[in-house]
Amino acid sequence: MRYKEYLASKKWATKKEAFKKDNGGRECWVCGATKNLHVHHLTYKHAKYENVKEELRYLCAAHHEEVHELVQHSKGSNIWHATFKVRKRWEAIHGKRWGVRDLKEYARSSKRLK
Ligand SMILES: [Zn+2]
Ligand SMILES: [Zn+2]
Repeated sequence: MRYKEYLASKKWATKKEAFKKDNGGRECWVCGATKNLHVHHLTYKHAKYENVKEELRYLCAAHHEEVHELVQHSKGSNIWHATFKVRKRWEAIHGKRWGVRDLKEYARSSKRLK
């Protein structure tokens, strides 16, 4: 099954439901918006066998687009990296800092997903 077909499959629909249940918060991982949310893959490495908690994130439509544009336009920048970059950029603009929990999450996932 190719990735595009996978996204249209029942398997992905089920996985997405599991993610939604797990993520009661339902907000964009970059800006905290609660509307127009997309489920985004931090990596395609394990597509079809994603770890719901670690490899999927909610992004609002705008940030989702920004991440995928960044991936397209920067050579060598993978999707994991681009997602964190967009978040860092947003936090710099809005004067926010990463919490300890997020920094830990970043360090952990960078080892596994990069
Ligand atoms: Zn957003
Ligand atoms: Zn995406």
